[in-house]
Amino acid sequence: MGATVFGMEACDKRDKQVVEDSFQWTIDRFDDIRVMRYRVPGFEELSPDQKLLVYYLSEAALSGRDILWDQNFRYNLAVRRTLEGIYRSWEGDRTGGEWAAFETYLKKVWFANGVHHHYSGDKFVPGFAAEYFDALLAGVPNEALPLDLTSGGREELLKTVRDVIFDPAAWPVRVNQAEGEDLLATSAMNYYEGVTQAEAEKFYADMAAADAADPRPVSYGLNSKLTNAKPRYQTTQRSAPYEVVWREGGMYGAAISQIVYWLEKAYEVAGGTQKEIIEALIKYYRTGNLRDFDAYSVAWVEDTASEIDFINGFIENYGDPLGIKASWEANVSFVDREATRRTEIISGNAQWFEDNSPVEARFRKAEVKGVSAKVITVATIGGDCYPATPIGINLPNADWIRRDHGSKSVTIQNITDAYDAAAEGNGFREEFVLRGEDRERMKQYGSLGSNLHTDLHECLGHGSGQLAPGVTGAELRQYGSAVEEARADLFALWYIADPKLVELGLIPSLDVARAEYASYMMNGLQTQLARVAPGKNVEESHMRNRAAIAAWCYERGRADNVIEKVVEGGKTYVVVNDFEKLRGLIGELLGEVQRIKSEGDFEAGRDFIEKYGVRVDPAIHAEVLERYGALGIAPYGGFVNPRYEPVRDPNSGEITDVRVTYDESYVDQMMRYGRNYSFLPTQN
Ligand code: ZN
Repeated sequence: MGATVFGMEACDKRDKQVVEDSFQWTIDRFDDIRVMRYRVPGFEELSPDQKLLVYYLSEAALSGRDILWDQNFRYNLAVRRTLEGIYRSWEGDRTGGEWAAFETYLKKVWFANGVHHHYSGDKFVPGFAAEYFDALLAGVPNEALPLDLTSGGREELLKTVRDVIFDPAAWPVRVNQAEGEDLLATSAMNYYEGVTQAEAEKFYADMAAADAADPRPVSYGLNSKLTNAKPRYQTTQRSAPYEVVWREGGMYGAAISQIVYWLEKAYEVAGGTQKEIIEALIKYYRTGNLRDFDAYSVAWVEDTASEIDFINGFIENYGDPLGIKASWEANVSFVDREATRRTEIISGNAQWFEDNSPVEARFRKAEVKGVSAKVITVATIGGDCYPATPIGINLPNADWIRRDHGSKSVTIQNITDAYDAAAEGNGFREEFVLRGEDRERMKQYGSLGSNLHTDLHECLGHGSGQLAPGVTGAELRQYGSAVEEARADLFALWYIADPKLVELGLIPSLDVARAEYASYMMNGLQTQLARVAPGKNVEESHMRNRAAIAAWCYERGRADNVIEKVVEGGKTYVVVNDFEKLRGLIGELLGEVQRIKSEGDFEAGRDFIEKYGVRVDPAIHAEVLERYGALGIAPYGGFVNPRYEPVRDPNSGEITDVRVTYDESYVDQMMRYGRNYSFLPTQN
């Protein structure tokens, strides 16, 4: 529930003039990917202890990297280490077309934290032949290969890696959400092994039923793998399926020990409240007990005063087709005081927004608790937040913690600023926005509209509403994520066009909403398809949500021509003709989506997403891909991290300062991370 992924709006925000210096924002470009840098303004102004805290937490944020790779697919570490072995030791030609194709493949695998596309989940198709791969491998010494994968040595490793890379029928998709298939058998993700969907669902339904009376249920299965294979680690089950918990001394223990090592260092320099939070997190990493995780989460959500904050753990469940198990992710951040005034106004009026929302009164919260909303500057991103990173986060995810303790919501402004700067002058708006008045409004208000949308989505949307008695929130199963994102987006879209925002001084006029509506509908109906491969459906939850909202509004408003698809000069344009009516439709849909969530209405949730959010119009799709191709815009972006280096006193050896630099290339960073943060065995 907690992350807003940057949509196509990224390509549409190039107006902010960034003239400060020659900072190079885009540093690499391959396939559908653009790699950028982000800056960390304000780091220099932190105190020495704060800088040190950022440094230690950053090391903790990088130390769990291998966990995510293994979670995404059991052979990802084998593939990465083999490819990096080639990259390091190949002494032949590095200029030809096949080498370039090999390098591109490696860059894509790095970006996706595995062999499946980070967004679509489809396995990459290599642009080089298996014979060429064999020739490259012939020059790689055994020491450079991850031979700990199998007992069969080099031959068996290479056969496995070869199958992964070159056999299109093997593990074709990371997260399959196709209705009617066994979602575990058909997904390559590594959260389950040899377990059917029905077995897994029963396993966790039984677990939840056993303490159905608990008003504070843990997030069952969040931090473990469920397997029918005889586990190599301690479990509490005496027969299959076994739940193997990720903790120190358990599965992923070697990486978790490193995380704990750096958290202990962070503990030394942290302030009072934060010490307790770090201590609680260490305890949870040691026990793997989800009650400890909840205790940590409560302490974390209640700390709204600390200047520096961090996320480090098993948090989001987008990578599990059943939405039970969480991928490992991390980031380190500090407050952007100036921009936080905006979100403080929003959270200060949270109750007003809740009371006036167009959903049934019984689904509104009588009392909105502790909405803490900040604008932050990230200093390091790791795990499932790297290199592709969210621009907004709202946590924790546990419904009872949100109910009793509230949630923390952030908008990550230095990332959106980097997107803006990097997208300057890419020609997107001229290509896709038909009317001059819309272009003008987007130019003037696009950035503000999209930042406010993120604020409202995270800080109010996810936190709004309540479930009907007896509903747990898990009823919507594989449609849960997309429905929840739709709920938060609709809340944001409804309120961004409310005169209250003008009254509060958040927007100068409703033109901000007009810009946001026009962008949103164009994106949902059309331009976000640049991220979908030809012939594929929309799979990712945030994209399904945007497509569903836009297509539903388009269809419902058709009689009044609220949204129009105009064809001119052989090109299709999405145009919003009636903003007031569109807002009415958004309010109506918000009421219905809230009802679906509150009542746990699986059929209605499925119908909404399947009917409007999944299927793609092939003609529009082909056209978008062609127009994007002509502009040369990469539909996906991600970031390398800055590099933090401690400065030591030459006499005492003590760390006196931390220096930040921005000059590392994408390849150098990935190779360095591969060298310095490879803590897990190849087979886990
Ligand atoms: Zn969200």
